[in-house]
Amino acid sequence: MTRRKLVAGNWKMHGLSSDLGEVSVISIAAETLRADVALCLPATLIERAVRKAPGFAIGGQDVHQADKGAHTGCISAAMLLDAGARLVIVGHSERREAQGETDADIKAKAEAALAAGLDVILCVGESDSVREAGEAVATVSAQLDASLPASIDDASRFSVAYEPIWAIGTGKVPSIADIGEMHEALRQRLVARFGEPGSEVRILYGGSVKASNAAEIFGVADVDGALVGGASLKSADFLPIVEAAAAAA
Ligand code: PEP
Repeated sequence: MTRRKLVAGNWKMHGLSSDLGEVSVISIAAETLRADVALCLPATLIERAVRKAPGFAIGGQDVHQADKGAHTGCISAAMLLDAGARLVIVGHSERREAQGETDADIKAKAEAALAAGLDVILCVGESDSVREAGEAVATVSAQLDASLPASIDDASRFSVAYEPIWAIGTGKVPSIADIGEMHEALRQRLVARFGEPGSEVRILYGGSVKASNAAEIFGVADVDGALVGGASLKSADFLPIVEAAAAAA
């Protein structure tokens, strides 16, 4: 089965209105490349980015599981959609760690976002101590099982991102064999859970992806794209990664 590659940028807590020009450049270049491209921006930039790059996939970086209510500082799926977002990241390790989000929270967020009409990128990944203990595959598989939404109506709207925590923003990347082993295990879990649609879900790799390593990573079986942090902030760094994805398609 052919899954079109997806390269999503995660700007985290970076970006002011003066950076919106990067969104324009990326959106225009993305139109000509044979890969899906998205940028998950700080909430403050979403609406302006959508106006600047109509038709391009802009996303959020988190969503609350409730429709509305007394949740100071939180954003609902309806609010993201209202701002023009098409997708959202849930379960990023920085939120799991700093905000104490549990697998159950992330499952609820994924379900709320999908039900509202947002595409979802669900992140999983192990710490360095888990990797060193030889428990990475078992740990991440269990994390995936507990974080997955109960159902997916349209597999093209749901992606999983394998992001080893120790590889995020560090310049360290797992071996190609380790990435392959993890993606194969996650594919098996997705098929075990959802049947045939599980083979259509895209599994992204995330963690220090850059122009120099993207092609090799995209060559691994069951790597269907990337979630990119630091290298997504500048079009000059991000677009070569998208080009590598398009070339690997
Ligand atoms: C991320 O935070 O999702 C990420 C992959 O970051 P980086 O590419 O900077 O390692």
